[in-house]
Amino acid sequence: MAITAPEATGTVTLTIDGREVTAPEGATIWQAAKSAGIDIPVLCHDERFDPVGVCRMCVVDVGTPAFAASCVRACENGMTVKTGTPEVEASRTMLTRLLIADQPDAAGDPKQTTTGDNELLALAGRYGVSKQAETLPCASGRGADESSPVIAVDHDACILCDRCVRACDDIQGNDVIGRSGKGYDTHIGFDLFDPMGSSSCVSCGECVSACPTGALTNKPIRGIPIRPREALDAVDTVCPYCGVGCALTYYVDRERGAIAFAEGREQPGSHGRLCVKGRYGWDYAASPQRLTVPLIRREESYPKGALSRDVRGEMAAASGGEANDHGLASSEGGPGEKRKGGKRGRKPGGLVDYAEVLPHFREATWDEALDLVARRLSEIYLANGPAAIAGFGSAKCSNEEAYLFQKLIRTGFHTNNVDHCTRLCHASSVSALFEGIGSGAVSTTFGDVVNAEVAIVTGSNSTANHPVASSFFKQARRNGTTVIYVDPRADKMADHADIYCQLKPGTDVAFYNGVMHEVIRLGLTDEAFIASRTSNYEALRATVADYPPERAEQICGVRAELIRRVARVWGSARSGVIFWGMGISQHTTGTDNARCLIAMCAITGNIGKPGAGLHPLRGQNNVQGASDMGLIPMFYPDYQKADDPGVKAKFEQAWGASGLDPVKGLTVTEIIGSVLKGGVRGMYMLGENPFLSDPNINKVRKALSALEFLVVQDIFLTETAEFADVILPASSYLEKDGTYTNTDRRVQLGRKVLDTPGQARVDWEVVQDIANRLGLGWRYTSPRDIFDELVTVIPSYRNLSYDNLGLTGKLYPNPDPEHSDGTVVMFTENFKTNDGLAHLVPAEWLPAKELPDEHYPFVLNTGRMLEHWHTGSMTRRSYALDAIAPKPLVFVHPQDAAGLGLADGDLARVSSRRGTIELEVKVSHREARGNCFIPFHFREAAANLLTIDEIDPFGKIPEFKFCAVRIEPAGELAGNG
Ligand code: SF4
Ligand code: SF4
Repeated sequence: MAITAPEATGTVTLTIDGREVTAPEGATIWQAAKSAGIDIPVLCHDERFDPVGVCRMCVVDVGTPAFAASCVRACENGMTVKTGTPEVEASRTMLTRLLIADQPDAAGDPKQTTTGDNELLALAGRYGVSKQAETLPCASGRGADESSPVIAVDHDACILCDRCVRACDDIQGNDVIGRSGKGYDTHIGFDLFDPMGSSSCVSCGECVSACPTGALTNKPIRGIPIRPREALDAVDTVCPYCGVGCALTYYVDRERGAIAFAEGREQPGSHGRLCVKGRYGWDYAASPQRLTVPLIRREESYPKGALSRDVRGEMAAASGGEANDHGLASSEGGPGEKRKGGKRGRKPGGLVDYAEVLPHFREATWDEALDLVARRLSEIYLANGPAAIAGFGSAKCSNEEAYLFQKLIRTGFHTNNVDHCTRLCHASSVSALFEGIGSGAVSTTFGDVVNAEVAIVTGSNSTANHPVASSFFKQARRNGTTVIYVDPRADKMADHADIYCQLKPGTDVAFYNGVMHEVIRLGLTDEAFIASRTSNYEALRATVADYPPERAEQICGVRAELIRRVARVWGSARSGVIFWGMGISQHTTGTDNARCLIAMCAITGNIGKPGAGLHPLRGQNNVQGASDMGLIPMFYPDYQKADDPGVKAKFEQAWGASGLDPVKGLTVTEIIGSVLKGGVRGMYMLGENPFLSDPNINKVRKALSALEFLVVQDIFLTETAEFADVILPASSYLEKDGTYTNTDRRVQLGRKVLDTPGQARVDWEVVQDIANRLGLGWRYTSPRDIFDELVTVIPSYRNLSYDNLGLTGKLYPNPDPEHSDGTVVMFTENFKTNDGLAHLVPAEWLPAKELPDEHYPFVLNTGRMLEHWHTGSMTRRSYALDAIAPKPLVFVHPQDAAGLGLADGDLARVSSRRGTIELEVKVSHREARGNCFIPFHFREAAANLLTIDEIDPFGKIPEFKFCAVRIEPAGELAGNG
């Protein structure tokens, strides 16, 4: 076995248990022994962490008076090591006895950890030791901590090995756990020895996976007892949440038909790490609220409109009605419950009230429902033409499902009106990347940050939105990468940055033009790269000449000196990479913002080499794949232009279709506008919930009500489904096979874990059944079958197959899939533009569309929380995630809150020109004065009632990150009955 040792320059040869072993210089005895197949027991050691040698279980005889801890002692030439002498074994036995004696009485009953095995108990078995038979005195009594919803802490079982401390610090970069006390009173503690549940712990579970005893254990989710690993089925798959795409294994209790626990597994992009959503957020699939039968709207339920009290109430509030009549708890208080008392303590809630909505529907057979879908959509198509039909697919569905869905809309209805939530997330980034470098995908992986001298993280709350990617950023900084964080909110990444620039919202162009001005002035550009690999540099230089740091400061609020410092650091670095999120893209200037980032990299030669490049962090698990599959109105699969006659002809031939739409289709926001103008009349919604995810919900509500026919295919009764004519019960991520493409371009296999409930069906089969009712004659037999077809029309996926993706997937493009993980760094020679050059596009700063004024003095920023996902339909039905983050909050700067007479937990009313919501105040030093932040996951305080539906002219993405609002105390609630 190859041994890695720090800065090994040569080898050493030693003798271990009589065998000659050669190891790299710097290798430890433990590593050398392992490479030779010699097992030395450990407790405090874990190969993922730096060794500390505190437990002494790994001691060996090296001929010195004292035994040496093999996990830290380096090999030496000529050294003779004995790993299992009677004296060494006696030492280990005594150590095990001492540790076992202090264990809780229940220690004989192995507690389940995510490591699956209590390593101390395993050693006890090896050395014939047991708690019950132990005669050494016991020093237990350090107590337990049950305050976390997901992790149980038993201090008596803790052996102070520090594995949890190192897991929290070195792997996840969370720095939560430390030690307190002396002697027998020594114990691990969280922050300033707070209860774990009220500490800064983010419930990533990394400490649990590291703990070798029962000191840190997973709590059962939904009361499903965690049985020993041997009794469970292991299914290797991928996390269903964010674009990081962490590889994980679900341990399934088949007797109970439920997942017992999840653990991360090795994959080049995630290295076994998970965040709270991946580790604990999977039980939504077992929710009793799953849709299990096809539903058809009853005749008497027309004309359509919002069915549930809270949705109706929101509309009333938004149009000037009594705001207090809107959505209060359906899951806790139930509709109709009166609320009285002070302004604190409003109950959370927020799921669609099934009892209120379901009576408007009747159960149907699949045949009846599918016949109706095909008939009604066909009637609308035949009466009004292709432009009357549109489809929203989902970035949560697999590549195969996305591919089939866009193929259905294009070949069945001859329209390119097919889009998905990429329009709400990185459409402007993609538009700038296509224009600039000819490709919408990332130029390098997030793990490549390890090779970067400087990393800029901008417009990205990555500790919440891409937690495992952020752990790589934090780890890189510990290893010497300079991290520059640029964001209006001082999110946790600011705590891990060398330089933090708190710019005003919507001023990114001014900031980056100021930085580029200074890079050019200081002569820190890469002239050779500019000359040989870019075009239009002179125009860029002329534009940024007008942005000296002092002028940029006036616009963006970042001190000129700090702008200069960023320029010096960035321009001097041998390798620099930029990661960005929706703080860049979700603006009416989103494309301009991304153009600046492309120029930042291009003028300094920071694309096409290790540790350098452009990486828009993709939001949903398969938003990259869904876009690759052509689930967008302007492109066929693999970004082949929809309005190119040659491309159209190519797909007509490939698909055996005729009359494909020769022009680009409408985007998500344009489709909503078209419905209101009588254009689009029939829609197929697969897994999307625009009622909560789209801007200006009132407009969306009117559009959904106006549709002649709406079919919603989903796993829950979403807010959008309330407007449906037919609801089709779909499969969750956990119930099907398929491939998913993460933010790194890594294509991974997701494997079926559970059966679909009731009559719910896997999505690709439902899409195929509708296609065949339209006469398309599809005969796909499996996701593999679909993948085999899609790779023939997606050149980027060439060489990938179900047979070679394996357990860790592969990056595309991949020239040699049998021997390579794929291409990490792209554009080493040329860009994918028509001339192979990076096209620099200068951008002038433009203000946001709706600026604060005396009536609406605050800037509203919307986004995600760590624990929740998109419109919350999955995460709010996850026990752990809902328990940790149960309610909507508005985050306000302490001085702003004080000025408004608001304190933590008070109820505030937040209004924009489009609507009003009420929610609890969270006083937060992470906000800048004059700004506030509201997560958009919560229907009972839907942030998108407030947002503006102005869009970026190129990417057509809405300005979710900027609109003007007013905040005021909400006062007492009068009741909502
Ligand atoms: S769960 Fe994660 S953040 Fe919390 S203490 Fe453990 S490792 Fe640290
Ligand atoms: S970082 Fe993303 S992919 Fe990884 S576990 Fe968390 S939500 Fe899942």
